[in-house]
Amino acid sequence: ENAEAAVDAAQAEIERLDALLSTGDADSEIAKLNVDGSGELSEDAGYLTERALELYQETDGAFDIAIYPVMEAWGFPTQNFQVPSQETLDQLLPLTDAGNISCDKETRKISFGVEGMKIDLGGIAKGYTGQKLAELFQEYGVSSALVSLGGNIQAIGTKPDGSSWKVGIRDPKGGQQDYIGVLFVENQAVVTSGGYERYFEEDGETYIHIINPRTGYPADGDLLSVTIVSRDGTLADGMSTALYIMGYEKACQFWRQHREEFNVILVTDDGKIHISENLKENFQTE
Ligand code: ADP
Ligand code: MG
Repeated sequence: ENAEAAVDAAQAEIERLDALLSTGDADSEIAKLNVDGSGELSEDAGYLTERALELYQETDGAFDIAIYPVMEAWGFPTQNFQVPSQETLDQLLPLTDAGNISCDKETRKISFGVEGMKIDLGGIAKGYTGQKLAELFQEYGVSSALVSLGGNIQAIGTKPDGSSWKVGIRDPKGGQQDYIGVLFVENQAVVTSGGYERYFEEDGETYIHIINPRTGYPADGDLLSVTIVSRDGTLADGMSTALYIMGYEKACQFWRQHREEFNVILVTDDGKIHISENLKENFQTE
């Protein structure tokens, strides 16, 4: 009944969060924080920063929102791509350690421990936005909805006929329309990170926009894509980025320790698809 009003509200909510969180928008809270080195954040930005710092701890530094100075050196934010010199990376890497960010949960006051640090919530913002939209739709009494935010899917309820939503999982080696299979979900976020979405090429090399914080170079492990399935959209988004960086062995190990929180589909560079146990019944591959 309220579907149209709900969609208008959803669009406004996406724009509100984008204006708050985008590093590319000089007026955003995050952009201002990056200039000032400290500041008090709104509820949304504060919550997200806090979650990001938890993910940093849990993933042993693989998920690191302080990576932004290195993202800039590669030209990802402006799309003026370039391969930075090792000297440049060596200078920037000391700035990219989220362990040097302090965050007061009560006041949401953030401060950077090292001069020149900058953060980027791009690795979790879409997952959080999907989660917020799920809440919004519930408030409007919408029982069936599917939110798609570029690689981030949030399923609300079931399809109107009561059957599960079907989410196609892209073949990381194929074209736009090639899928490795279909996942059946209800009330879950499905988030995929892969090297095939945003990258640039130079001298025959491909450079992707997911950076390994240990090296300052794009992640180049043995994974082609990581899909995370979880009720928690923010977690799913953060984990998809982090597990991609970890590579297959570490990602499997990590999942075993967190199997209650999320499920996973990994595609490795030998063309194999690996699915966590609990998903098998919900995944159909060709
Ligand atoms: P997409 O934005 O394509 O859905 P991801 O969720 O994997 O992909 O997020 C990639 C984004 O995360 C990058 O554009 C950058 O803003 C940010 N990022 C890159 N490397 C890291 C990292 N090691 N930790 C946290 N965020 C990162
Ligand atoms: Mg992510």
